[in-house]
Amino acid sequence: MTALTIEDPSLVLLVGPAGSGKSTLARRHFALDEIVSSDALRAVLSGDEADQSVSGRAFAILHREVARRAIEGRLTVVDATNLRRSHRRSLVARAREAAVGAAAIVLDLPPDVIRARNASRTRVVDGGIVTDQLGWLRRTIDGGQLGPEGFDPIIVLRDPEAVDRLAIVRVPLTRSG
Ligand code: GDP
Ligand code: MG
Repeated sequence: MTALTIEDPSLVLLVGPAGSGKSTLARRHFALDEIVSSDALRAVLSGDEADQSVSGRAFAILHREVARRAIEGRLTVVDATNLRRSHRRSLVARAREAAVGAAAIVLDLPPDVIRARNASRTRVVDGGIVTDQLGWLRRTIDGGQLGPEGFDPIIVLRDPEAVDRLAIVRVPLTRSG
């Protein structure tokens, strides 16, 4: 078992390409009402979770939700790829404004596992998009981006066994002053 300690409340970003297992991990470790999902918001807006034409609106709602929930002191898990620094930055900023921490759970599984899982999903994401996402994932991890962006703790899960071994321990956020 690998224990990841996160504060409650805090903002938890899942980071990983399509097919890496973000939604499965979120459902396993968090309550449904703690998860905000870009796919789910696209589905609400257009009836189709893959409809990229509503992505802008979906992420606007997602960001508002993250900000509101952080201010209300509720733990929030962001189920989106979170592979671009620019996308993560605005989420971390909202956590910081509410004086809560930001944790990152990175699904850095072997590319063949990710591609096989993507192919077995109900909604298969285009292989070229997954290739782009795998590149952004490498830049995120190998470039050591997450620490300087303000994430703490950061856990990188590199194989399915590591994902299975993950346990999440919550500790109450203690505020000073
Ligand atoms: P997401 O695109 O990152 O949200 O990935 P999903 O959680 O939708 O998972 C993609 C596919 O991989 C689905 O068919 C899942 O059932 C499968 N999957 C996800 N996590 C695991 C896991 O830990 N073990 C196994 N065997 N399959 C998994
Ligand atoms: Mg998903």
